[in-house]
Amino acid sequence: MKKSIILFLFSMLLLMLIPMHTHAASHQTKIILDGQELVLPNDVEVVNVRSNIMIPIRVVAENLKFNVKWNQKTQNVNIEQASTAISLTVGKDQATVQNNTVQLNIAPQMIKNTVVVPLRFVSEEMGLRVGWNNKDKIVTLTSNNGSQPASPSHGNDAATNLVHDITYANNQLVVSLDREVAPVISTLKNPERIIVDFPSTNFGNMGQVPSGGSMGRLDVNEFPSVTDIRYSLFKNDPPQVRIVIELNNISSVNYTQQTIAGKFILDLSMANEPAPAPATPVNSGKKIVVIDPGHGGSDPGTISYTKQPEKHFALALGLKVQALLENEPDIELMMTRETDVYPTRPERVKLANDLNADVFVSIHGNSVPAAPQISGTETYYYQRESSKALATLIHKNLIDALGFNDRGVKNGNYQVIRETTMSAVLLEIGFLSNQIEEEAMMSETNLNKAAQAIVDGIKEYLKL
Ligand SMILES: [Zn+2]
Repeated sequence: MKKSIILFLFSMLLLMLIPMHTHAASHQTKIILDGQELVLPNDVEVVNVRSNIMIPIRVVAENLKFNVKWNQKTQNVNIEQASTAISLTVGKDQATVQNNTVQLNIAPQMIKNTVVVPLRFVSEEMGLRVGWNNKDKIVTLTSNNGSQPASPSHGNDAATNLVHDITYANNQLVVSLDREVAPVISTLKNPERIIVDFPSTNFGNMGQVPSGGSMGRLDVNEFPSVTDIRYSLFKNDPPQVRIVIELNNISSVNYTQQTIAGKFILDLSMANEPAPAPATPVNSGKKIVVIDPGHGGSDPGTISYTKQPEKHFALALGLKVQALLENEPDIELMMTRETDVYPTRPERVKLANDLNADVFVSIHGNSVPAAPQISGTETYYYQRESSKALATLIHKNLIDALGFNDRGVKNGNYQVIRETTMSAVLLEIGFLSNQIEEEAMMSETNLNKAAQAIVDGIKEYLKL
């Protein structure tokens, strides 16, 4: 294992030492759209950035008969077709789709004069079904009805469902899907196995996707009760994804299952592991609140009117909320960060989920540099009614306390509120790109007011 990592690093080093021009023509990635290979301009290619497959957006959009406009000055791409309008900016991990802000797991990038966007964005926001064959480096894209341009789909059609991620931790198998699906679960003996079949489901953008009968595996070294977790495309037409969990040394297989916000969760903690003796009572009856000051460290967030990074605002306000909540006898508080560091979004999500927190609040400042007149407070939740209730209470308190323009409580597809499993909200306190609002937001008085409003909203929600 170690040896292969060293070998890998060594070959990466070699690759970096080879002059650029020799590797360009070696293996051109193909993009197949509705069965037809797209002609890629000479120096345009599909790239892999931190396990995200990124594709040149212009080539794809133009072939779908979208109208593509590039603004060199603002580094902005506008994509329009009939009623669909998408706006992306290089280096910015938020896009606009039909006037809604959409969070990307990786910002669009400029590579060799071409803007590339994550494949997942194309599937989620342009309604294409996507596939990635890592071995042959082929991206397959399928629009909803052949040659017709696709319209954004949010997963209500009968198209193939897609698996975006499979993880195993804390005795839980978590499968992230485009939309909820009821898998067929069966068990087998000798060895004990749990077989989870997802009907009409294929692999989406998850980096290494098994194809052609090959298998993917999760690393289960840390989990003594599990010997193997493997996944494959079990059937082709219609596609069916199968996950097999092989268990170690147990007399009977027990599990519970649930589906939360597009995630299928198979929980094996019931009987497969000897129950640990509780050393200290973990649940003191207190409510667990996680406060998440957005961005931090290497991730500045947006840049304000006076060129201050959003991360400083988020932390300043977060620490004030912390100071207030620490005095609450019925609340157990956890911060995702207390200094200028960058926990990744999956790390923030994991912290809250592992704690089994009751409330998750992510703090941000908004920005539209191109329209500095825009101002006001927005509060986001993702789908769950419990999150919406929390969002409504905090939002009302913020509007009352700060008196900013009320831009409403909205459903928003942000990772930290989508993938957390408790009541979770993302606060856009105000617009840092607005000169007057930035000054108001950064004032000591308003930071204190906002912190108190957040605390009041949380306490009202928790009925404390
Ligand atoms: Zn932010």
